[in-house]
Amino acid sequence: MTQTTPNHKLSVSGWAAHDSNGVITPYTFKRRVNGADDVSIKILYCGICHTDIHHVKNDWGITRYPVVPGHEITGLITEVGSNVKGFKIGDRVGVGCLAASCLECEFCKGSEENYCEQIQFTYNGIFWDGSITYGGYSEMLVADHRYVVHVPESLPMDAAAPLLCAGITVYSPMIDSKLHESTGKRIGIVGLGGLGHVAIKFGKAFGHHVSVISTSPSKEKEAREHLGAEDFIISTDPKQMRSKRRTLDFILDTVSAPHSLGPILDLLKVNGTLVLVGAPDKPVELPSFPLIFGKRVVKGSMTGGMKETQEMLNFCGKHNITCDIETVTTDNINEALDRLAKNDVKYRFVINIAGKNSSP
Ligand SMILES: [Zn+2]
Ligand SMILES: [Zn+2]
Repeated sequence: MTQTTPNHKLSVSGWAAHDSNGVITPYTFKRRVNGADDVSIKILYCGICHTDIHHVKNDWGITRYPVVPGHEITGLITEVGSNVKGFKIGDRVGVGCLAASCLECEFCKGSEENYCEQIQFTYNGIFWDGSITYGGYSEMLVADHRYVVHVPESLPMDAAAPLLCAGITVYSPMIDSKLHESTGKRIGIVGLGGLGHVAIKFGKAFGHHVSVISTSPSKEKEAREHLGAEDFIISTDPKQMRSKRRTLDFILDTVSAPHSLGPILDLLKVNGTLVLVGAPDKPVELPSFPLIFGKRVVKGSMTGGMKETQEMLNFCGKHNITCDIETVTTDNINEALDRLAKNDVKYRFVINIAGKNSSP
C-alpha cells in the first residue's frame, strides 16, 4: 500500500539490495507524489535484466545503495497529472530504462532521448527534483508520462515486460540498419540469451534469413526448431566459421563476455555492419584487417528512444512477439538473480509483483 507522508512523499513497498553482497530484501522507501507531468502506475510485472545484477553487486562502481532495480516494467495507470495527454486511469502501460532527459537537445527533439547527455535512468539515477530513482522491483511507480508507453491489448503483460529493455535494445539497431525496409537479407545474431532470442523473432518478422552464432552447440536444436533460425554457426569451430565467410549483411552481437570481434567480422559481406549491444567490462579485441579488407562497420547502440519503443510494442502486438519468460515470485528474486548470472533461464525472468507471496 502507498500513503502520503507529511513531507509530501509517497511511502512505497519494494525490494532492494543494500550493499555489494547484492542480496535483495523487502524495503520501504519514498517516491515523489504524482506531479502535473506524471502518471502513477500499479506495477504488475518487472523483468530481470543483466544490468540489475551489475547494479546490485556494484560491478561498475556506480551503485547508490539501497538500490531498487528493475527497468522492464508493465502495469496499470492509477493516477494522471494535469498536463498529461494520451493516458488515462486503467491504461496498460510500460516503462523501460529512461526516467527523464533534458527535452531540449538535438537528441531529445529528434526522438532519440536515449542519447541525451543529461539522461536519467529508471533506477540508480537522480531525478530533476533531486530524488534518487527507484525501479520496478516495487509495487508502484511515479513516472513522467513522456517516458511511458502503451502496451497493446494483444500482448500479455508478463511476457511483454522484457520488451521494455531487451526488446528495444535489439529492435533499435535493426531499424537503424533499415532491416524493416526490405526482406531477404542474411542477418546474424551473436549469443542466444535474453536479447538474442527476441532479436531472432524480430529478424524473422522482418522477413530475413537468420543465423545464430554461438559457442554452445547444445543450443542449435532450440534455435532452429523453437525460434525458427535458419542457420546455426558454432563460433569456436574455425572450419565452420571459415565456410561462412562473407555471407551476412548485418550482425547483432549481444554477448557481454569478452571475445574477439575479428572472426565475427569475417562473417560479414563487404560493407556489412556489426552492432554491439552486449557490454563486456573490458575492451573488446578489434583487429583492423577484417575491417579494412571488407570495408566493414562496427558500431554500438544503447536501448531506444520513446517513439521507437512505442513503435516496437505496436510491431510486437501486430506480429505476436513476446519474450520467452519464466515467472518468479517476489520471494524468489535472489534465486532468479543467481540463476541469471549463470545464464540458467530461457530466456528472461519476470517478477510477478502484484501476485506476490509475501508482503514486504
Ligand atoms: Zn536492461
Ligand atoms: Zn536532451
